[in-house]
Amino acid sequence: MARQARQRGRRASGAGRWPVLGVALALAALIAYVGWVKLEPRRPVAELAHPITALGRDSTIDVTLRDVGTGLAWSRIEIERNGTTTVLASARYPAETWRGSGLHETAISAPLAALGGALGEGSATLRVFAGDYSWLRWFRRDSALLEAPFAIDLTPPTIEVLSPQHYLKLGGLDFMLYKTAPDALRSGVAVDRYFFPGTAGLFADPAIHVAFFAVPQDLDAKTAVKAIAEDTAGNRREVPFHAVVKPRAFANRTLDIDDPFLARKVPEILDASRLPTQPDLVAGYLYVNRTVRQNSEARIKEVTRTSAAKPRWDGAFLRQPNSAPLAGFGDRRSYRHDGAIIDTQTHLGYDLASLRQAPVVAASTGTVVFADYLGIYGNAVIIDHGLGIFSLYGHLSASTVTPGQEVQRGDTIGRTGETGLAGGDHLHFSVMLYGVHVDPVEWWDGKWIRDHVTAKLEQYPRATATATRDE
Ligand SMILES: [Zn+2]
Repeated sequence: MARQARQRGRRASGAGRWPVLGVALALAALIAYVGWVKLEPRRPVAELAHPITALGRDSTIDVTLRDVGTGLAWSRIEIERNGTTTVLASARYPAETWRGSGLHETAISAPLAALGGALGEGSATLRVFAGDYSWLRWFRRDSALLEAPFAIDLTPPTIEVLSPQHYLKLGGLDFMLYKTAPDALRSGVAVDRYFFPGTAGLFADPAIHVAFFAVPQDLDAKTAVKAIAEDTAGNRREVPFHAVVKPRAFANRTLDIDDPFLARKVPEILDASRLPTQPDLVAGYLYVNRTVRQNSEARIKEVTRTSAAKPRWDGAFLRQPNSAPLAGFGDRRSYRHDGAIIDTQTHLGYDLASLRQAPVVAASTGTVVFADYLGIYGNAVIIDHGLGIFSLYGHLSASTVTPGQEVQRGDTIGRTGETGLAGGDHLHFSVMLYGVHVDPVEWWDGKWIRDHVTAKLEQYPRATATATRDE
């Protein structure tokens, strides 16, 4: 009995202690939880979105801030120049709950122009500071999360045109020489929306560059041509230079499109381009003649983005042997179906016809950069001849070369055919400057190449490196 009573008594007093213990435990758990949330030790981190070695008037400093746990509380971007510190940007991120802001990532884009008149040239230091809502912030030193030296550069690179005379015709091209500062990251010739990059390394003087430039057939002959140079800080110099551009009228041609042609061609091109079939043949044709045509040109632009840094061609380009021209460069074509004009496009090369499945020869020496189906051009081959000059061979029945292959002037690269948007067996031949079609006529003319290109190359001592020797 006594034992029982004792046990009962112990149970009673134990039951009395439980709530206290429970509350104490709950409190301890709460404190531990709050402590775990608010005493998290990880500081925010800062990262530059792009390197900032040299910055100009229009440059921005792009910083990404990240914080795990409580979230970001504030940020500040400072620039130190000649011992003076200026705040370029600062922000506060209010707490949303007792935990903090919950802002775990933010991107800051701070234009350097915000410094206004304080912006002088020279070296500077970027410092990025940021804090979070951790209680440990009271014990932290306000040290920079990121520190990076950079140079403020407000001077555009120099560019000087060396070749005195430039004569070209609308749709054609010419060659120029210029000298630019070593800090120029990008230089060449700008003609309206077109940009033709220059190439260095051909001459003993490394500052001398060469650039082919065109006044493309869709521009006005009076369009200004400008030599341009840009540095890493985004400073850009534009120097207009003298070029005499002969205007010309392009031929107008009407092409009759009949239903058997549409029935033969539209499914072939859509199928080879892995595009869905079109129930209506005229709608399908318009899709091919507009959208597939644009896609073909976009693919050409990609393939011709880079070119050998030296001339690879070997005298005048070869014209497809024993061929008669069917269509010329720049022809303005109207397409007539059932008596109505349904579309207009510009023909950007020469159509040359000889025998069916005639051998097609490389116009000059170079590297094959493309050999595949190319939309309206059907089976096509593109060859890089250096300095941005490429030749294109379209509508082939077969090609016998592969990308990367070196070809010599006159080598057989395939056979003519009527793949793509071709009404009969012929070769479509284009010459392009970085993917911009130019009149091929000049490249069939050895005198033109000598007068416009070779003579200018001979005016300055060439670099002795093997890189400039033509193979
Ligand atoms: Zn053609």
